[in-house]
Order: sequence, then structure tokens, then C-alpha cells
Amino acid sequence: MTTLATTIFTIVELPYAYDALEPYISAETLHFHHDMHYAGYVAKLEELTEGTHYASMSLEDIIRESDGAIFNNAAQAWNHIFYFEQFARKPKHMPDGRLYNAIVDTFGSVEDLRRRMTTAAVGLFGSGWVWLAADNDGKLYIVSRPNAGTPLTDGLIPLLCIDVWEHAYYLDYRNQRRTAVEDFWKVLDWAVVEGRYSV
Ligand code: MN
Repeated sequence: MTTLATTIFTIVELPYAYDALEPYISAETLHFHHDMHYAGYVAKLEELTEGTHYASMSLEDIIRESDGAIFNNAAQAWNHIFYFEQFARKPKHMPDGRLYNAIVDTFGSVEDLRRRMTTAAVGLFGSGWVWLAADNDGKLYIVSRPNAGTPLTDGLIPLLCIDVWEHAYYLDYRNQRRTAVEDFWKVLDWAVVEGRYSV
């Protein structure tokens, strides 16, 4: 999280090799997703904010204080850094400790949480993001948002996100969004999510 506040115009590299998430997310998809789509949002944000007071702000502050094209590009930049950071070649497949207990209390089981988020991701019309987020008391919420939407603007703490823009899965899964989301869980590293919940 500390990197995000200082990376407004810096491309954050993937924390793993481009082929690390195969066969579920291919190297080709990651090249397009990271090098073209995510980098494109960063470049556009730089262009839009040049010479404005936004240029010296953190991504989070821009997201909270802007709207329109600046919001869209700042949020997409932030969302993608957050998205790429949550995967691993050898992920931890189940949460434990405090996060596990909160998931069981709120959703019944980790499998129930996965099922509900998968259903939300499949059902989100058009492009957008499905999030697991927490409030300041640690209570958990599933948040479904179109386009660049993020729970940061609701004052919530993002924990994990599913990108359901077609660019996230179309090369590998074509129109099979459900299969793409079911496979998402196979490379999600719960150790990262636990770290986000502990702050
Ligand atoms: Mn994306």
C-alpha cells in the first residue's frame, strides 16, 4: 500500500514474471493488461493532470477529490496496481487468522464468499470491478462497481478485487467470464489479502 501513494506517474512493475500465473492468466494477457491498459491509464492521467494541482497529489487523494476523466484514469491506475499485486505463482489458497474468522462470521465460509463474489462478477453488467472491502471496524463487504469504481470513495479499505473488464480475460477466455472468475481464485494469494486486512 505504501507504494501506491507515491506512484502517480510511475509504472509499477509486476511482482512476478509475466508467465507466473499460467495457465489461468496468460503471459499474453498480462503483457496487454499491464503494459498497454494499465500503462495507458497512467499516461493519460499524466496528460490530464499536467500543470494542475492534481499532479502533485497521491493517487488516493486524486481518486477522493476528482471526477470525470481524471477520476477514471486515477482510479484505473490505482485499481490495476492493487489487482496485479494480489496474485502469486504459488499463492496461499486459504486465508486464516483474523481474516478467516471475519469471512466465516460474515459469509458463512470462504467458499460462500468466493461463490458470492463470483456471482457478483458474472452479474456485473458491462465493465467494472467487484471488491472485498472492510470498514474501519473490520466488517467485510462485497462491493460491485461499474467502470473505474472503487470502495475507496466509500471510505472503505479495499482487500481484493476482480477485474471484469473484457481486457482482463478475453484473450484467454473469450466470452466465458464465469470460467475466468472461477480461475481467478486459483492464483489469488490470500497472504496478500491478509496483509491488507491487518493494517
Ligand atoms: Mn483491467
